[in-house]
Amino acid sequence: MDITRETLDKWAKSLGLDMIGVASIDGYRHVAPQWNPLSILPKAKSIIVYAKSIPRSYFRGIEEGTMWMRANRYLPPQPAYYLCRIFEDNGWLAVPCSPMAAERWPDGVVFKEGKPAPNVTPDIQLAAQLAGLGEIGFNGLFLTPQFGVRQSLGMIFTEAEIEPNQPFPSGQICDRENCKACVQGCPAGALAAKPVERQVGDQTITVGEICREKCSFCVNGAFPDTSLATAPPNRLTAACARACIACLEDSGKIQTNYKSPFRRREAWGFATFEA
Ligand code: SF4
Ligand code: SF4
Repeated sequence: MDITRETLDKWAKSLGLDMIGVASIDGYRHVAPQWNPLSILPKAKSIIVYAKSIPRSYFRGIEEGTMWMRANRYLPPQPAYYLCRIFEDNGWLAVPCSPMAAERWPDGVVFKEGKPAPNVTPDIQLAAQLAGLGEIGFNGLFLTPQFGVRQSLGMIFTEAEIEPNQPFPSGQICDRENCKACVQGCPAGALAAKPVERQVGDQTITVGEICREKCSFCVNGAFPDTSLATAPPNRLTAACARACIACLEDSGKIQTNYKSPFRRREAWGFATFEA
């Protein structure tokens, strides 16, 4: 291995990151070129995904209906910039990835037959599960054992070989069969209990079918995607995500030191055009 996990963990800590994981490039053998990091860095050996927790207080105002705060799904560019610089200082090429709405791409000209159109957009949630950080929940949001939905994600690719994590086993956090609090928690009925299958490396997982039109008019805490007006909104603070925070904390699946429960009264909510 070119860089030890101990060294990588030390670099992550120096940048104030709460989690870091490595996905093996093997998980990308069957990913289409349009979404594959190998289209960006053909000699990439490791896909690195990292996360920073979002304070629970960011969600409490929306939960009470008193104050709206945006909780960012993705980290700003700085940690990626500094992490890439650390890799380069140690002799290894590393490329930052800025996640933006997948629906925004492709919007350029294919320069050569057989090549993907710009821009190639690797799926950060897929990478995060392959890197062992957590799992894509039934609500379609990324869940970790430490923070549930409360983290922002970032990603870089590098030519350095680093010992990879095992992909996170689906179902360890999200009990799809018996929970569905997110489905019941959406006042607009935009998240269906009907499962849709998707592939995460060798695992076939299920997520709830979502009505994009209803979500794009969500009045229950979602924020528009600032990278593309027609893309699905940021749902981190929406009712479907807050129901998940409450159920994961109350069931003990997410261990916290908080002295009071997240949900302290019946959740408010409006049907899409009722507010
Ligand atoms: S974003 Fe809003 S409308 Fe969409 S599933 Fe979540 S709560 Fe429902
Ligand atoms: S609310 Fe329950 S079913 Fe929905 S994503 Fe969270 S843990 Fe999974």
